[in-house]
Amino acid sequence: MSNVSVTKDAGRPEPAPSGLVVLDNVNKHFGALHVLQDIDLTIARGEVVVVIGPSGSGKSTLCRTINRLETVDSGHIAIDGKPLPAEGKELARLRADVGMVFQSFNLFAHKTVLDNVMLGQLKVRKTDKQQAEQKARALLDRVGVANQADKYPAQLSGGQQQRVAIARALAMDPKVMLFDEPTSALDPEMINEVLEVMQQLARDGMTMIVVTHEMGFARSAANRVVFMADGRIVEEATPDQFFSNPRSDRAKDFLSKIL
Ligand code: ADP
Ligand code: MG
Repeated sequence: MSNVSVTKDAGRPEPAPSGLVVLDNVNKHFGALHVLQDIDLTIARGEVVVVIGPSGSGKSTLCRTINRLETVDSGHIAIDGKPLPAEGKELARLRADVGMVFQSFNLFAHKTVLDNVMLGQLKVRKTDKQQAEQKARALLDRVGVANQADKYPAQLSGGQQQRVAIARALAMDPKVMLFDEPTSALDPEMINEVLEVMQQLARDGMTMIVVTHEMGFARSAANRVVFMADGRIVEEATPDQFFSNPRSDRAKDFLSKIL
């Protein structure tokens, strides 16, 4: 142990930050708007982090920078020790490694449910067709929609479509899953069926970053809550600490409005 202990003796290099997802001093502007400000965030393998904060605080932009749907102006992002690739096949593989589930389900409308879950496996992972189908059917079963495999997305309920979107992301064997308000567009009676799939994923050890206002999910599934406001991480705490004893005025104000 002694030769790996972390000390801060003068002249000794700081250990490299370890974590599956590491954001190091990330900044991003949209024109004059400084949408991400000095974001430092390290997410460990298997950790479930819930990101909350007022509308416009930069939560979606944060998610989108992690799979490079948005570029950053400065700072560094690494997944599993590797910086984000800029383009090409490397970028496609990164997007597969970082599964993303959006508020709008974003399934391919002209493909069947089964094809939606097979497509990335065939194109990006180069899985053979039989294997891809087997895996797709197993995942559709896991999220509870095995009997919808041959339908088109529009024939499914919102909750079913969102579960297909989760299966599609899982088909790529992602290292981390990002969820950006996955239940915000759903009718109330469908929210739980999606949250339950996410709960199960968390229990299975998936590394997850979840933007949500579902505080029940945050309390039961999250290892950590990250509270954002005005493009900054204002506060980080365990769900218990955060909900019972928020430190910042911004968080207190936000919680008083949603709880
Ligand atoms: P949140 O998800 O927390 O609601 P967003 O990350 O979507 O916040 O947006 C943060 C801010 O950035 C908002 O003020 C939003 O209007 C602005 N914004 C987001 N995307 C763009 C874009 N593509 N171009 C310009 N402004 C944007
Ligand atoms: Mg958003």
